[in-house]
Amino acid sequence: MYPSGAPSLERLRGVRKIDLTTASLATSDLAREINRDIVLEFIRFRQPISRVNLARLSGLQPSTISAIVDDLLKEGWIKEGAVVRGSRGRPSTMISINDELVILAVDLRPGRAIVAVIDLSGRFLSQETISIGSRPEAAVSKIVACIEMLRERFSKMTFEGVGVSVPGRVDPVTQRILMAPNLNWHGFDLKSALEKKLKLQVELDNDANACLSSEIWHGRLEGVRNAVLVAVGEGVGAAIFSGGQVVYGFNGLAGEMGHIPIDPAGPLCGCGQHGCWEVFASSRAALKRYAALKTGTEVNDVSALLRLAEEGNPAARKVTIQQALALGSGLRLVTAALSPELILIAGEITSAWKLIEPQIKKELAGKMLAGRPPRLEPAGDGQSARLSGAAAILLHRHVRFHHSTHGIKSRASQKSSSRK
Ligand SMILES: [Zn+2]
Repeated sequence: MYPSGAPSLERLRGVRKIDLTTASLATSDLAREINRDIVLEFIRFRQPISRVNLARLSGLQPSTISAIVDDLLKEGWIKEGAVVRGSRGRPSTMISINDELVILAVDLRPGRAIVAVIDLSGRFLSQETISIGSRPEAAVSKIVACIEMLRERFSKMTFEGVGVSVPGRVDPVTQRILMAPNLNWHGFDLKSALEKKLKLQVELDNDANACLSSEIWHGRLEGVRNAVLVAVGEGVGAAIFSGGQVVYGFNGLAGEMGHIPIDPAGPLCGCGQHGCWEVFASSRAALKRYAALKTGTEVNDVSALLRLAEEGNPAARKVTIQQALALGSGLRLVTAALSPELILIAGEITSAWKLIEPQIKKELAGKMLAGRPPRLEPAGDGQSARLSGAAAILLHRHVRFHHSTHGIKSRASQKSSSRK
């Protein structure tokens, strides 16, 4: 039996099971890179901070901190600021994140794209919404034009790259769009199309994963090892955080729980199957149910429907409660499969949290196999989360590129092309 909390690993004798087909030895390079990422995180959350305090907080040797800080300064992630006198009178230079280094974030939606400039501390410097047609090539031209305009406007900044949140799944190997039922860009190589025109590194990920990455980037999942984020919008998608890692699965489709059929006799779904979870639990489903009630009050989008529900309109309340119950009943699949400690709901539906929370909780708690149900929390309307998550995806991949000795493009070569 485990004592309360996690078992203490130090006290257990035995060896960790290693898969020899994928194992790589822990080199000193790897150790240095892990320490570098830890130091960068300390700077991000505790800035401005001195080298002495970085050593104290991280437990690393002052000489190691100095070497890492020198690297981060050279790479442009951080900058030096004011010199302050410490308690022992020795002067130390404060270090902060370089706020002149910015990321372009794109939230791709059916019919529109939102493009934002975000700095390394997560601050939004600008945000533009453009309408895009259904043809991917024409949409790319519009997105590129918007980005070029923003680069012009922030010409003093250094643009690190572009992160894109996609309403679909991305092939982890080819980076092509695998499936995007509400967008219809199947197989399109958005990454290459944007990289060719912008000469910046571009990284894509699914919108639910983007919302999850935003939670991670802002430190809101500190201490949580197992969580599921459910993004509710046109469809229902999930992002899985298991054992402290985002799960992509073998083909990048992990988390497509919205397409698990829960009623084979149910309505036809965009994916071709009948009765998928999302045909009951998506906001599109709520709008359809509302239209079928023929109340005489027309509603065109989800935010209008939710506003009506909050104002007490009986039909709008009824379909929103039905949506919440459908969400809750599908979440039982999620808890049975993954046993998360936390379930986050993202999407406009969270604006009616007071109305939906008790319904979802009732469904969740009523049918637990054993133990306590997971905590349930709203993760916002999704839009700003998708944007800051897109930025986080770019940063995260960058770190991976930096680590990989055989990365497609090194940071240095990216820099020289992007700073021209
Ligand atoms: Zn489906």
